[in-house]
Amino acid sequence: MRAAYSGLIALFALCFSSAQAQDAAPRWSLAIHGGAGVIERASLTPEQDAAYRAALQGALDAGSAVLKSGGSALDAVQAAVQVMEDDPLFNAGRGAVFTAAGRNELDAAVMNGSDLTAGSVAGLTTTRHPVAAARAVMERSPHVMLIGPGADAFAASVGLEQVDPAFFFTERRWQGLVKALTEAGQPIPERPAGAPLPGAQAEIAPPLNEKKFGTVGAVALDSQGRLAAATSTGGMTAKRWGRVGDVPIIGAGTYASNPDGCAVSATGDGEYFIRATVARDICARIAGGAATQAAGQAEIADADRLGGKGGVIVMGLDGRPAFAMSTSGMYRGAVSSTDTARVAIYADEP
Ligand code: ASP
Repeated sequence: MRAAYSGLIALFALCFSSAQAQDAAPRWSLAIHGGAGVIERASLTPEQDAAYRAALQGALDAGSAVLKSGGSALDAVQAAVQVMEDDPLFNAGRGAVFTAAGRNELDAAVMNGSDLTAGSVAGLTTTRHPVAAARAVMERSPHVMLIGPGADAFAASVGLEQVDPAFFFTERRWQGLVKALTEAGQPIPERPAGAPLPGAQAEIAPPLNEKKFGTVGAVALDSQGRLAAATSTGGMTAKRWGRVGDVPIIGAGTYASNPDGCAVSATGDGEYFIRATVARDICARIAGGAATQAAGQAEIADADRLGGKGGVIVMGLDGRPAFAMSTSGMYRGAVSSTDTARVAIYADEP
């Protein structure tokens, strides 16, 4: 599937707002994603399609409630991402993919564009909301990045909710791991302690297609002109050896800069997005005069040339969200002070 897909170089890029261009600039604006990948109409039932759209809408509602009441872009991106971390449909928090050892190891990052502060975490196993841990690293530690048990211990020490690792378990992701390991001829680990019995968990999610990455992210502009970005993920199915992707690497999967006029959250093949420094490059392109849409599109094309598929959401100081992807779909949505909320899944949707 992947080999067949790698031949497809066509890039799909969407700007939700071509008609907006004439309107007054929004005072605040929010865009979200729930992962990019091989997501085609045929692969989702109408119920699954509706469930994803409702979940995206829920995240937009949470983030826009913050912005509407004059809150910060930082609070808004965190609120939107936390909703998706709690939703088993997405590969972040509950519903994260499993490592080859049968664990959920969670990565997240946040960046505040107005002062260029950033925080990130990798390999969390007990912190319910990894994005909250990333923010705590940014605001309550002298560091930018914490990993593994130390990161969970830090999160617990600042009062963030800790859960049994089985909290993150979903049958769908477990079966995805079993399939991936079987195909790779690798041993299947024991079902995690505390996981529900096979068949006990109701599943709305689509059948196994692990080419849907499912990372979540948000970018926002608030009414004081501040930009922020946040991203959260379980990484890649069957990852090994403490693998960490692009999400918590500031400048790869996540970046925000008011001086550059950008906030970016990415989803896709992390190894390639790290090598392409996707998020930072998009900001550099914007600082150099590129439009948000063109910058996102050009960078996704660069990552594609390296061999990495995925997508980005980009927010500029004008509050117009841009979406670019090299995949057949990306769960995504946008809302602003001037535009009602809209969500989309397939690349060809407006
Ligand atoms: N970028 C993530 C990673 O490589 C995966 C994804 O976007 O789903 O960890």
